Amino acid sequence: MTPDPMLAAAAALLIGDERITDASGGAYEHVFPGTGTVNATIPLAGAEEIDAAVRSASAAQREWAALSPGRRHDLLRALARAVEADAETLARLNVHDYAVPIAMSPGQGAMLVRFLDYYAGWVDKATGEIAPVAGSHDINMIQREPYGVVGVIVPWNGPLVGIAMAVAPALAAGNAVVIKPPELAPLAPVRFGELCRTAGLPAGLVNVVPGGPAAGEALVRHPGVGKIHFTGSGATARKIAVAAADGLKPLSFELGGKSANIVFADADLDRAAGIAAFMGPLTQSGQSCACGSRILVERSIYPEFQERLVHAVRNASIGDPFDPSTQMGPVISQSAADRILGVIKEAVSQGTGRLITGGNRVGGPLADGYFIEPTVFADVPNDSPLARIETFGPVVSVMPFDTEDEAVAIANDTEYGLVAYAHTSDFARAHRMVRRLQAGSVWINTFSDIQPSGPYGGYKRSGYGRLGGIEGLHEFTQVKNARITFDG
Ligand code: NAD
Repeated sequence: MTPDPMLAAAAALLIGDERITDASGGAYEHVFPGTGTVNATIPLAGAEEIDAAVRSASAAQREWAALSPGRRHDLLRALARAVEADAETLARLNVHDYAVPIAMSPGQGAMLVRFLDYYAGWVDKATGEIAPVAGSHDINMIQREPYGVVGVIVPWNGPLVGIAMAVAPALAAGNAVVIKPPELAPLAPVRFGELCRTAGLPAGLVNVVPGGPAAGEALVRHPGVGKIHFTGSGATARKIAVAAADGLKPLSFELGGKSANIVFADADLDRAAGIAAFMGPLTQSGQSCACGSRILVERSIYPEFQERLVHAVRNASIGDPFDPSTQMGPVISQSAADRILGVIKEAVSQGTGRLITGGNRVGGPLADGYFIEPTVFADVPNDSPLARIETFGPVVSVMPFDTEDEAVAIANDTEYGLVAYAHTSDFARAHRMVRRLQAGSVWINTFSDIQPSGPYGGYKRSGYGRLGGIEGLHEFTQVKNARITFDG
């Protein structure tokens, strides 16, 4: 594959107005998962660069806060236009990062634009409150203020999505940010940092410091950081909670899931099968937090639905992520491929359900990349590891149910609660599903489509805090009450 000229430009750290290519965290040979070959050498942040980034953010935040709301609004809109104009480069870098198919990649840049435009709109509209004080004519004047510097730690699966959802509201609320992408997917985030500069945002308002766990921990522990927003796994979230405990630092977490996708017999079955395949093994090869990895099907349509699902999955084109016709690419790394194939092998050897399609690594011209066939198991017990542990690969479980109560009980019988899907043509049942499913987002007859006006986040171990809507703006503010007396 011909190296993309944008790769070298994006292999850097952005701190203040500096572009750093030699950093104290060392260098990382970044591998393109589609071919298993190195496509860039990434400088990694260590504690030194994290400290420099936080200092630069802190200085820029004072400058940002001193601007009028109108000016901040205009600059965020200018950033949205810069992202829009750069859509093609951002999309390609996103593919180089983690091999998301190019057909899907532009959607993430578009999401970034939507979040920037939406939150730019809040800059001059967010208001406070006046509350009376009992027994006097004093008033409580309640307002929201930024934390100062916010650390935004994003995962490799959709770093631009994580940036859209957290950075746009954090900036709109008046904060500066230090974005820490992982070494596995740093390229598109760095390009976004460059766009922040060209759009005219104060230097240092958005710093981008790719790095591994040590850099993340340094950011969490830095006393100059007022708040951490983290998107990633529950295991890392627990470490972050421990590290943040020292400074009693506020946290918000967007974590994983083991989401149920319930298909009732009265649903539009073709549409439901398409969504089950798309939001199951196909989207990002199942490496999506919103993966509907447990597909619950009403018994009267159970065999028929399996056929439709297998048909949809087998018809998906797997291949070169840069080919516009590709619907499913590889998984992120050799070790992820080994782990996922191990999960499949274990399920087969334990007799956990019936493997009805997939289960193998893809060979032929794709053998050097980390491609795994979309894999479906039927008759999976909900108490099996396959149904309980987030596989984070193209593997889904199908299970039957007889009644609505049973479907809800199975769906909610998980430690996670990020999203839930239900397919039905019964209006009243749709409303019951919204009420009864324990998840931060319930999608009825549709797929997971995160929009800036809809708060997104998890119940239970899928996290806390919400991104999107006014809740997303509030996530990056702290409340101040000023009492003003008129006595004496
Ligand atoms: P991860 O937890 O391994 O890493 C996430 C980020 O944390 C990376 O930037 C990593 O470098 C950093 N990190 C690692 N150790 C750290 C430490 N000790 N201190 C601070 N930072 C540290 O997750 P991942 O494999 O990159 O992403 C996959 C997970 O993310 C899945 O569980 C997925 O469901 C979840 N996810 C959730 C959402 C959501 O919106 N809820 C979105 C995308 C991904």
